[in-house]
Amino acid sequence: MRQVENPPNPYLKYSAEFLGEPPETKLEVFEETATRSMITKSFMPDRGDRYTVNCYRGCIHACTYCFARRYHEFLGYGAGTDFETKIVAKINAPEVLREDLRKTREKIPFLEFSFATDPYLPLEANYELTRKCLIVCKDFRMPVGIITKSPLVTRDLDILTKLNCTVFFSIPFPTTEKSKPFELYTPIPDVRFRAMKTLSEAGIKVGIGIAPIILGYNDSDIPALLEKAKDAGATKAFINLIHFDSDSIEQYFVQRLREKLPTQAEKIINQQKRERGGNLRHKTFADRAGKTEKWEIAVKLFDLHFRRLGFERFEKPQKPEEKALPVQQKLF
Ligand code: SF4
Repeated sequence: MRQVENPPNPYLKYSAEFLGEPPETKLEVFEETATRSMITKSFMPDRGDRYTVNCYRGCIHACTYCFARRYHEFLGYGAGTDFETKIVAKINAPEVLREDLRKTREKIPFLEFSFATDPYLPLEANYELTRKCLIVCKDFRMPVGIITKSPLVTRDLDILTKLNCTVFFSIPFPTTEKSKPFELYTPIPDVRFRAMKTLSEAGIKVGIGIAPIILGYNDSDIPALLEKAKDAGATKAFINLIHFDSDSIEQYFVQRLREKLPTQAEKIINQQKRERGGNLRHKTFADRAGKTEKWEIAVKLFDLHFRRLGFERFEKPQKPEEKALPVQQKLF
């Protein structure tokens, strides 16, 4: 394991530095027993209200670009190796979710499993918290969306086939060689495509998330990724440009990038700065979109192959009053 590396936590008054070599990191699992609610409501300007479920905090997959790293800082941990090795399992998640839905089912049109962790990180094989929460959703006839990088999702085929559900696989890189500098401990891309095929052959709606796009690194892979996803039965797809929601995430990403891709790092950083008017971080939500012709070309490339291959937009189920929203706000 690598040595402990965490950017300073902005929510803590004091921080400490090791004198000399820091210790190696080790995996620690904590069980949270006092979870009060399992549904988190958030609002995104382009997507409206979102209701998300996460049975774990932290993620062993350790993607260097992960925007969920900042949530670990709310617990007093670091956004670096702490996020990857101090994992919290919400062991009462299924019971709490059942109680939440008993009170709020009518107000919630759709639940998304993801955004603060991968719902199928390796610990899920033992804890089965995501599985049990899906069973709760089935009991309440709750439509769900799942985003994962893990083939472990195929274990739950028996429940997924009984749900109104869409499973997106996050696959931004076509090969292990391109994935490894950014996705340190994730299942390799081919394994994710195989899992996608298994689900689609069982009749589950599947999609590909080509996110993040790192301009100059994987934008040219968009057509090949869409082709492979199509072959594996995907009918939905989306892309997102890489974004950094906090200084600590930016700091950790840059450090790992320079370590893993020393000859390409500065080119990637400079291109990303051009998208953000000279900074790596965006200032407002609207600034998260790219600004240069290079990003425009990436979007056009995606749109062209999206249409050519017959992909569909993903429209999440809505509450009745949301049906009047303009089209852009309804698209996933
Ligand atoms: S799998 Fe998802 S949640 Fe986990 S580190 Fe990667 S991007 Fe973050």
